[in-house]
Amino acid sequence: MKDIVIQTQSLAKTYGDTRAVNDLSLRVHQGEVYAFLGLNGAGKTTTIRMLLGMVKPTAGTVAMFGNTIEPGETDVWSSVGYLVESASAYPELSVYENLEVVRRLRQGCDRRAIDQVVERLSLGVSLHRAAGTLSLGNRQRLGLAKALLHRPQLLILDEPTNGLDPAGIVEIRELLRELTLQDGVTVFMSSHLLAEVAKIADRIGILHEGKLVQEMNRNELEKRRIRRLEISARNPREARQVLLKAGYALEPEAGERIFLTDERAMKTPDDVCRLLVGSDHPPMHLAVQEEDLEHYFLRLIGKDGRRHD
Ligand code: ATP
Repeated sequence: MKDIVIQTQSLAKTYGDTRAVNDLSLRVHQGEVYAFLGLNGAGKTTTIRMLLGMVKPTAGTVAMFGNTIEPGETDVWSSVGYLVESASAYPELSVYENLEVVRRLRQGCDRRAIDQVVERLSLGVSLHRAAGTLSLGNRQRLGLAKALLHRPQLLILDEPTNGLDPAGIVEIRELLRELTLQDGVTVFMSSHLLAEVAKIADRIGILHEGKLVQEMNRNELEKRRIRRLEISARNPREARQVLLKAGYALEPEAGERIFLTDERAMKTPDDVCRLLVGSDHPPMHLAVQEEDLEHYFLRLIGKDGRRHD
């Protein structure tokens, strides 16, 4: 079992009547990308701020690299690179100067570190531009460059792909992969986009209204999504009877379409077709349907009118 890099125990934060984070216990292991997924207001930024000692928890504890973090404690920042909410920079200073300011604050960080992050984040063309004139995507790149400057072993990133175009998103995804695989860096990131985290994260924690409603590995996500075989036939009633007699599991009757839910139907739809043709109910339409990630997410948090998984 790999070392635990982040551990929270019954972490909570209340603002007045708002429970921003509620009884949150999680563990992040060395070298993994853990994505924290939730709608706006789910409590992601508040959690990240508590991890970094920027916000005092109402209850519970945070430990990083095995050490408990006290609110206001900044020692941990030397081994952590972080990007919280939208990346900030000195707008009048150039990209290079912004990096130089951060470099001087970081102990043991030489000038070559700047060249390396500039290259890694493709900031070369904007190096001498004032940070205030950068596009949102490049401002985000600068934020990530600052987070990486001192080669931290842990990256805590709030919505790291915020404002990036599709090419930029792929670039960041590859960068995070490279950091974890080659350098053993651990990444804790937040996002509100399931499709995106499904590609980046090893593990996903779903946060809703301050509570961790589910944790899963990336491959579990595939298994949990609804898959079904959709069929239409001229006489759906009779076609249903044929399928039921053959032992197929069907969704309850609702409208003209028939939905088969067992794995066998998905794996060998040709058998289903043959059965229906043989019983004189040839399908007019037959298709494997997969729940998309957004719908899965909404189903899970009960926003589509159905119950939680
Ligand atoms: P987003 O994706 O919109 O940034 P989030 O998941 O990061 O959302 P948080 O910013 O952590 O969510 O907010 C969680 C809840 O706590 C929200 O209801 C928010 O309004 C509330 N909240 C956060 N910070 C404060 C604060 N300083 N004072 C009062 N309420 C706050």
